[in-house]
Amino acid sequence: MTTRIDLRGLLPQELEELAVRLGEAPYRGRQIFRWMHARRAKGIEVMSDLPRAFRERLALVAELPPVRVLNRLVAADGLTRKLLLGLGDGNSIECVLMIYKDGRRRNTACLSSQVGCAMGCSFCATGQGGLQRNLTASEIILQALALGAELAEGEGGNRISNIVFMGMGEPLNNYEAVMKGVRIFEDPSGWGISHRRITLSTCGIVPGIERLAREKPPLELAVSLHAVTNELRDKLMPINRRYPLEELIPACRRYAEITGRRVTFEYALIAGVNDRREDARGLSRLLRDMLAFVNIIPLNPVAGSGFKGVPPAAARAFVALLQEAGLEAAIRDSRGQDIAAACGQLRFASREVL
Ligand code: SAH
Ligand code: SF4
Repeated sequence: MTTRIDLRGLLPQELEELAVRLGEAPYRGRQIFRWMHARRAKGIEVMSDLPRAFRERLALVAELPPVRVLNRLVAADGLTRKLLLGLGDGNSIECVLMIYKDGRRRNTACLSSQVGCAMGCSFCATGQGGLQRNLTASEIILQALALGAELAEGEGGNRISNIVFMGMGEPLNNYEAVMKGVRIFEDPSGWGISHRRITLSTCGIVPGIERLAREKPPLELAVSLHAVTNELRDKLMPINRRYPLEELIPACRRYAEITGRRVTFEYALIAGVNDRREDARGLSRLLRDMLAFVNIIPLNPVAGSGFKGVPPAAARAFVALLQEAGLEAAIRDSRGQDIAAACGQLRFASREVL
């Protein structure tokens, strides 16, 4: 059996080449791209401005895998929704939609980049299950499609405005597929999402950050820091043994200098572990004179981790300490704990009953 080409993960240029291989003009490739990513076509057969004979030829060699929602959970706020999606090989992944109705209205899709994760951070549920495999670019787009379809008319009907790679997996360990996804999201004839609204979060893969600095893909960079000493970071995040702070922080500085873009540092406050006054001082020392922003996240509970978050007042006090020291910092609004959809709570084998 021959496998058909998955059209959803192809860049415009690759679609043009495919069109030419099938005996058509290159612009047919662009048409297919628009059908899939701007008009959200569910199949080749509905691409009505392509000649019928071409559609038939295309369907013999290529396909658009269907979105398979295995489970849907809506948080008590009604605005945070988690989907469990089935993939072609029987694996499943979770992704989350966050609707913001007040202030800057936006619909944020929190996407996974891998089935599971190999990084084993001690506070993260995804890390507990290990890595199954990387996702393809098509499977990355598939999540945004499924989440967009959850939006009602009054919620911007299908319009995903922001993408964050903060679901399952380490995106810089799946660089090629994630960047393909980013380019498809950013393309004005595709999803048309501005680079300021696409954020990639990494646990600190230094060669990946260096590659981002060289290639400057259209995205914002967030780095999960969580500790200001190697001693503590080694314990929380095993990747620190490979890329310790004295390599990670200079790489982030270089990224900020080369790209002129600000780096966001994520810092999950864990009660009694990294929430002391001296941690705040250490943070401001580490990030001094850098184009940086600190996002404080009270840790979300993960069974078996033994860690606890901090109350909101403690998080506010920590942010105030950072601000006094001259850092830009804010608390990240954390959502979806009641449906295990908050940061660090996603799993590839959801235990919920389907
Ligand atoms: N693998 C990437 C992106 C996915 S995790 C990374 O680690 O950056 C998205 C964010 O959630 C990261 O900042 C991660 O450190 C954080 N996170 C993981 N577990 C968490 C938890 N239990 N509570 C709060 N944040 C958590
Ligand atoms: Fe992987 Fe990120 Fe979870 Fe660490 S926090 S285990 S890198 S998904």
